[in-house]
Amino acid sequence: MAQIRLDNIRKSFGAFEVIKGVSMDIRKGEFMVFVGPSGCGKSTLLRLISGLEDITSGTLSFDGQPVNRLSPSKRGIAMVFQSYALYPHMTVYENMAFGMKLSGRTREECKARVEQAAGMLQLSPYLERLPRQLSGGQRQRVAIGRAIVRDPKVFLFDEPLSNLDAALRVATRLEIAKLHRGMHDTTMIYVTHDQVEAMTLADRICVLRDGVVEQVGTPIELYETPNSIFVAGFIGSPKMNFLSGPFAAHYDAHTIGVRAEHIEFADQAAAWTGTVIHSEILGSDSFVYLDIGSAEPLIVRETGVSSHQPGQQLGVSPINGRIHRFDQSGRALER
Ligand code: ATP
Repeated sequence: MAQIRLDNIRKSFGAFEVIKGVSMDIRKGEFMVFVGPSGCGKSTLLRLISGLEDITSGTLSFDGQPVNRLSPSKRGIAMVFQSYALYPHMTVYENMAFGMKLSGRTREECKARVEQAAGMLQLSPYLERLPRQLSGGQRQRVAIGRAIVRDPKVFLFDEPLSNLDAALRVATRLEIAKLHRGMHDTTMIYVTHDQVEAMTLADRICVLRDGVVEQVGTPIELYETPNSIFVAGFIGSPKMNFLSGPFAAHYDAHTIGVRAEHIEFADQAAAWTGTVIHSEILGSDSFVYLDIGSAEPLIVRETGVSSHQPGQQLGVSPINGRIHRFDQSGRALER
């Protein structure tokens, strides 16, 4: 059963419509990630679910009950933002216990819950510190801990990792994944524009574009069967190669897409030949940029350290069947 149902949700700010009829079900315990480019309406959609923003039209239901008019505090949700918004003069313990004290729990109950959350988030050694004595990653974990102690049915995250440096972002991403595994009944909705976060955390991803749902599916569904050029180009790194005009004619499509890892070097009967422009060597694999005369260079993944030199001529072909075909409007064609 859907725990959260969005039925034709619309939101306008004045005459400007930002969310243009979004319908979707989110299951109990599911980790749903909203992704999309800047300004597509991800945060607005999250704020509509939280109640921080009023819905212009459509129905939002929790467990089958419309909640459009329910105040945020009555929805059983907790929210974690990009800016941790901790109280600077309170210790980690006090920051985590603050919301609970207001809700009238006993001192012992507060203590037990804070200690349990601190244990889950590896914050136990820092309970007496002030926020300024913590790293950015630790501060964000305090903000998450403060949400956990409230024991929400639904957790909302709005780009919680975007203020962290690359290493901390990876570490905190793992913490959030572990947290979700440890709280299987808790539904999590997570907003990001980082497709790696979306791929690694989500049970399902919802790709938004300009206030409309472009596609909802598991990370692998979106990766393997994107229904548009937009989704195909958004999910996966490096970005999928797109070729059109004469390059796609042979495949009976307006545009074809092929991922870097689905191209192989071919000595004979190569689909495309070109000149190596540049190789990015990452150690575990390399990305070879090939000028085949198309608008953008073709990116080809090679396992290990590439020995191809700029200026070298190479033939490449897509691996059997690993081509995505799109029509003129950018919609995927039947396979
Ligand atoms: P980002 O990744 O940049 O945070 P987003 O996808 O989360 O973007 P939103 O913050 O939801 O996008 O904003 C969607 C659109 O709505 C933007 O064009 C934004 O300017 C507009 N918008 C958001 N809040 C308001 C508001 N309170 N008043 C007027 N316009 C708003």
